[in-house]
Amino acid sequence: MKIDTAEFVISNSDVSKCPKEPLPEYAFIGRSNVGKSSLINMLTNNKNLAKTSGKPGKTQLINHFKINSNWFLVDLPGYGYAKVSKKTKQIFQKFITEYFEQREQLVCAFVLVDIRLEAQKIDLEFINYLGETQVPFCIIFTKADKISRVKIDQHVAAYRKQLLANNWEEMPDYFVTSSTEGTGRDTLLQYIDDVNQS
Ligand code: GDP
Repeated sequence: MKIDTAEFVISNSDVSKCPKEPLPEYAFIGRSNVGKSSLINMLTNNKNLAKTSGKPGKTQLINHFKINSNWFLVDLPGYGYAKVSKKTKQIFQKFITEYFEQREQLVCAFVLVDIRLEAQKIDLEFINYLGETQVPFCIIFTKADKISRVKIDQHVAAYRKQLLANNWEEMPDYFVTSSTEGTGRDTLLQYIDDVNQS
């Protein structure tokens, strides 16, 4: 898929205020600092579309971007950042769960995880929540440039093992990406294109 246009539409913390247009949408979510903003900017070829920030936990809204006038890329708040106050955390968790439970346009959630780390408790909890809520999801491994090709395969295999140990029957579709090197961009955009056409 070629990205012709990527435009910011709206930010909010209320699922009822998300765009009404019935376009398919794909949500990106993960622990703060996982590389979500960098990935969104890499995918859309726009250095500033999503705000990368040295201050994790800063983007705490549902951000809708319209891509090529035919699908929405949704940037959701990073989770699991200790310095977010308890109150803020409760609020964004509530609107995140409302988003996943109510948003009919949602086609797939991309859960971002750092390729270097073993499956984190909070990610597994979140993945299990998506399973219980029957939200289709894929895993995106980020920062693949930080380890060798051999290690990438080992880490993916270890992740799969951990998911199976957590009662998942199979590894979901997954993507290995690096925002600094552009790795995974074509494959991920092709995947979205294929799902949009199916
Ligand atoms: P977010 O909080 O999930 O949106 O994460 P950011 O996109 O702001 O990235 C967090 C940090 O990781 C920043 O210092 C980025 O430069 C770095 N980073 C993000 N993606 C990559 C990547 O693919 N490779 C490398 N080496 N660093 C990355």
